[in-house]
Amino acid sequence: MSDYYNVLGISKTATADEIKKAYRKNALKYHPDKNPGDPAAEKKFKEISEAYEVLSDDKKRQIYDQYGADALRGGMGGGPGGMGGGFSSMEEALRTFMGAFGGGGGGESIFDSFFGGGFEQEQQGAQQGASKKMNINITFEEAVNGTEKEAAITNYISCSRCDGSGAASASAIKKCGRCNGSGMVHQSRGFFSMSSPCPTCQGHGKTISDPCKECHGEGRQKKKQNVTIKIPAGVDNGMRIRMGGYGDAGVGGGQPGDLYVYINVEPHAVFQRDGDDVIIELPITFTEAALGCKKEIPSPVGNPLRIEIPEGTQPDKVLRIKGKGVPNVHGQGEGDLLVRVSIETPVRLSDKQKDLLQKFAELETESNSPRKKNFFDKMKSFFKNG
Ligand SMILES: [Zn+2]
Ligand SMILES: [Zn+2]
Repeated sequence: MSDYYNVLGISKTATADEIKKAYRKNALKYHPDKNPGDPAAEKKFKEISEAYEVLSDDKKRQIYDQYGADALRGGMGGGPGGMGGGFSSMEEALRTFMGAFGGGGGGESIFDSFFGGGFEQEQQGAQQGASKKMNINITFEEAVNGTEKEAAITNYISCSRCDGSGAASASAIKKCGRCNGSGMVHQSRGFFSMSSPCPTCQGHGKTISDPCKECHGEGRQKKKQNVTIKIPAGVDNGMRIRMGGYGDAGVGGGQPGDLYVYINVEPHAVFQRDGDDVIIELPITFTEAALGCKKEIPSPVGNPLRIEIPEGTQPDKVLRIKGKGVPNVHGQGEGDLLVRVSIETPVRLSDKQKDLLQKFAELETESNSPRKKNFFDKMKSFFKNG
């Protein structure tokens, strides 16, 4: 006997909901009405029913996890495992099946409503189309200002020739003779009356005598299409845009999938993003820093900005210009522009420059360099105390 978790294809930590879902899926696949006269399917159906019977019951699951299936045999009421496990009869397995979907030992009505609802959804092929993923590269400026991009995607789209019906003409769609268009067939098995999707039309209720030449009856076809991707202002590297309905067309009336566009913003030569703020490094000379100066700097949005560097500006000082960063992608204001001042020590001095700096040095006082004075004051007291 294989492991109950394996039988249902779930992990040991599966929740009650996951167990039920896994059982539903498997039970529908191997249900005897779907596989008439197939002993392998019958065996499998019993196995999954047994696995579900145990794992759906907290107490039994606990015993099973701790001691294995044998510890449960007596309590299963099935005697020593006949067909591949504890469930000796199909009736027992079917009772579990009914219990899982209707509660109690219900009859025809539960079964009918079940097949008419959930089963139809899954089996009539109303399937959502696949979602797609795409990467797109944009420049820093495009991210800041927003842009539109054209991209080619190859998707399944609803067939234009047959309008998704899969038939060459309307008259090629016939009501299914086997189920008389209901999509369901009824069968009596012992004292149960069961309904299941019609095997001739797969539950669609109709058959196609002459399939569409374009899509070969599938109702959709692969096609390369151009899409326009609207990229909002303020988008940042790594963000994802969801374009609802731009994935593959659904099958059998199912919803289309979505297209997910992942944004890659190319780095900029001078600007750096920090959320909605933008950082720019501004190198100035040490005389500009000492005397103060006016500078024109590029702005991430719009025209260049004139800024004033105050007299006595220290290295790495950050000047914040409110509202000149990037617009928030969700429309919540704008970030700031942060100008980080970097002061460059002059190199390759001429003799005359050296001479002037020498003279300047002679005139320097302690109060010109408060940080330096502060540092040496601390050092002095350190040596005194030590
Ligand atoms: Zn077609
Ligand atoms: Zn049919």
